[in-house]
Amino acid sequence: MRRGWVALSLGRPYSGIVPLGAWRNILRLSASLFALLVTIAIAACGGDGNNAGDGVIIEPVTATPTPDAAANGSALHGFVFPIGGGCLPKGDQLMPNAARPYRNGIHEGVDLYGVDNCVAIAGGTPVLAARAGRVIRADLSYKDPTQAEINAYLANPNNESSLDQFRGRQVWVDHGGGIVTRYAHLQSVAPGLGVGTQVTSGQLIAYVGESGTPESVSNPGTEFHLHFEIRVGTGCVAPTALMTVNCSFLGKDLPAAEVRRLFVAAFTP
Ligand SMILES: [Zn+2]
Repeated sequence: MRRGWVALSLGRPYSGIVPLGAWRNILRLSASLFALLVTIAIAACGGDGNNAGDGVIIEPVTATPTPDAAANGSALHGFVFPIGGGCLPKGDQLMPNAARPYRNGIHEGVDLYGVDNCVAIAGGTPVLAARAGRVIRADLSYKDPTQAEINAYLANPNNESSLDQFRGRQVWVDHGGGIVTRYAHLQSVAPGLGVGTQVTSGQLIAYVGESGTPESVSNPGTEFHLHFEIRVGTGCVAPTALMTVNCSFLGKDLPAAEVRRLFVAAFTP
């Protein structure tokens, strides 16, 4: 129901008939209506918002955030690209809201590999803070999972704990105004960095790795990439365990062209 509804409502954002500003309003209204519909559906099923009891995971009710949904209004501009000299991947499959066979079925960030991002990216490539902020998570004592642990995550891939394990070693930075960036699959955290560290825009915060990926155990050295997320919403305020309630990834439920437009804007001064 969900995808069908979204496709029906948002499938043609650039028809050329309706001005872009009007579409933004429509998108906001659609997000609100969608949240209402999901709320009604969950209530009708007697679900608790986590598991409907038949193996179907129902995500927390969170309206699709738009740039203006963040408290800072026009704040979703001026981000520094998290890999020096890098650029967005050409393929939408590596962008947010792309379908995934697991990890809740939806990709929540941008995957930056060495083949499609304007610059070489490999294990140990520096990762930069996308803008100034305060570190709210830095996995300094992360330990790589065993194959048995990976298998356990794969057997229950949709819960938030498994999703978090799949992201491996992470750093999260709170930029205020309901904006948080997350950096995942890291090889290591930059020396001296920890929770509470204030970072400047473009500051070295970590190094690219492949931690948390199944390949890091089964076929090491083949999955080096940075998974980068921009999360927005009133719930993107530390401390929040996994930042899933009222804190959605930028691009959630939006068509690929709109997701790309938002990210291009984010990396524009
Ligand atoms: Zn990813």
